[in-house]
Amino acid sequence: MKSGVVTGREYVELVEACKRGAYALPAVNVVGTNSVNAVLEAASNARSDVIIQISNGGAQFFAGQGIQDALRAKVLGAVSMAQHVHTVAKDYGVCVVLHTDHANRGLLPWIDGLIVENRMHFEKTGSPLFSSHMLDLSEEPVSQNIDTCAKYHEALAELNISLEIELGVTGGEEDGVGSDDVSDNSRLYTQPEDVWYAYQTLNDIGHFSIAAAFGNVHGVYRPGNVHLRPSILDDCQKYISSRISGANSKPCDFVFHGGSGSGKNDVSKAVDYGVFKMNIDTDTQFAFSSALFSFMEPNSQAFKHQIDPDTGKPNKSLYDPRKSLREAEKGIVARLQEAFDVLGSANKTIAD
Ligand SMILES: [Zn+2]
Repeated sequence: MKSGVVTGREYVELVEACKRGAYALPAVNVVGTNSVNAVLEAASNARSDVIIQISNGGAQFFAGQGIQDALRAKVLGAVSMAQHVHTVAKDYGVCVVLHTDHANRGLLPWIDGLIVENRMHFEKTGSPLFSSHMLDLSEEPVSQNIDTCAKYHEALAELNISLEIELGVTGGEEDGVGSDDVSDNSRLYTQPEDVWYAYQTLNDIGHFSIAAAFGNVHGVYRPGNVHLRPSILDDCQKYISSRISGANSKPCDFVFHGGSGSGKNDVSKAVDYGVFKMNIDTDTQFAFSSALFSFMEPNSQAFKHQIDPDTGKPNKSLYDPRKSLREAEKGIVARLQEAFDVLGSANKTIAD
């Protein structure tokens, strides 16, 4: 396959390659060209394909905090990010998936705006801007969740865009979506009946993936708060495949949300049970910021004085933002190498 952004049939082929090869791709949230370029560099180094993802808040930040109309900024920022990736991704020699993160009902206007932008890109080039979008209506009754998802799935499928949905409640809070109350454990596990209902409704429309809850939690919490049960994914796959004649053993394409801080063993089990995408945000945020701090802490004088008061030497080579931001980028690159290794995607790019 050609390197660069993959959409439509190519995206589905990549998902199939992941499941066949029993590996998953990290979906890394980005907030600017620094994080985008670091993700691409990491993927290129590891010879892994990768998913670049943006949340509504990340998109607003990408467009710039100076834009007054928040919804407009969220649309423009996501478009700007996607266009940057379309421009440079080919040169990193791997396949890149473009995705948006959680959109609950209040954020449907964001997705509506992106559908308009995808359509314009589709009419100009024959392919959409994004490979897949995500709707998270998991806080609503399942039938209402899936009804709305089906409506959006139809609009997206027309433009060769996939849809990721969420079933069951992933604990924790991300970008204002969800809640920090992880005490009600019973809601943290997806039911096979719900997955079957979604499958029956969505599968004929086009490609879709499911973020299922199996005890996962967004963000990083104290150890002991998270009790992962990846076998729930296996139960769902068996439930669905037993109801379709001639189906393969893993009919569902699962997504792992809230994987930060998970054990290696749980991650590889989840991948065995059909997870092809694992979201990473918290850990790469920390990797970026801690690398930045590690550079600034020993060089703190350079961030207070343009000329060093003791030696009289100019500090420009240290406070030039490219210097510190490059260190932060390297923090993401190092952290992602770990992710590619754990998910088994290193050296498996399908780009030629
Ligand atoms: Zn989620």
